[in-house]
Amino acid sequence: MNVARLSNGYIVTAKEYSPTKHGTQLFCIDRACQSPVIFVSGGKNTAHFKTTGKLKSKHTAQCGFLRPLTFHESIAKMTEYQKQLKEAKGKTTIRLNMSKIDPEYKPKKTPQKIESVKDVTRLLTSFEPDELAGIQVKVSDYKIPLTQMVLSSDEAHKSLWDGKLNNQIPYFVYGKISKVARREKVYYINLEQADNSLFTLIVFDKHFKYFTYTDEQLVNQDIIVYGFIRKNKVMAARSASEIVIKSNDYLDFITNTNEVLP
Ligand SMILES: [Zn+2]
Repeated sequence: MNVARLSNGYIVTAKEYSPTKHGTQLFCIDRACQSPVIFVSGGKNTAHFKTTGKLKSKHTAQCGFLRPLTFHESIAKMTEYQKQLKEAKGKTTIRLNMSKIDPEYKPKKTPQKIESVKDVTRLLTSFEPDELAGIQVKVSDYKIPLTQMVLSSDEAHKSLWDGKLNNQIPYFVYGKISKVARREKVYYINLEQADNSLFTLIVFDKHFKYFTYTDEQLVNQDIIVYGFIRKNKVMAARSASEIVIKSNDYLDFITNTNEVLP
């Protein structure tokens, strides 16, 4: 863990922690856990906090630090922790450069961090939720928290129609594919929505050759997709949102392999 709560409720990062200033009573930041933790000054690893495994110093079953989290658990915990960490220091910035996944893009060489949708899934399933909660993504001139960039299709749709999304930046949207319809000039891939809204991924015919998934590979799958979220203004009867995608690389499949622990 990169952060811990002090007995007065303040959250301290391992980087800024000083026993004389902050005392030695430290606790797990997960509200469902709050077990005592200790500071480890590092050596080879960077400084961090951890449980000792003795007496009460053990993460509880609901705690986000007990074990590696699945994609969905990770999203839930990082969102929970981000609310608490707003004031905490030591944020990490990651630059987003997704131009490589565009099959029509001519690549230039620049060192980047997030370069594919898989990078995001990997990030969400391999970092601890407190670290994720502190990640800011730099997208062109904007810096936004990772938690605000990765949205469920329900949240994405609602935020778009409530005017809460930044239309200058792309988002990562996750959901479950309910239906695929293939027309002569366009493919429509619908995501399951909780309300009567529509959320559709669109592939135009000039990109058909880059989008080779079959209906069987897509329908009923949990996926995360990258792109600019737009209102569909043609659909008059229902409110509809859409993302235009150009290739297989605009989406990744979410597996929940870490789940089902007793
Ligand atoms: Zn804990």
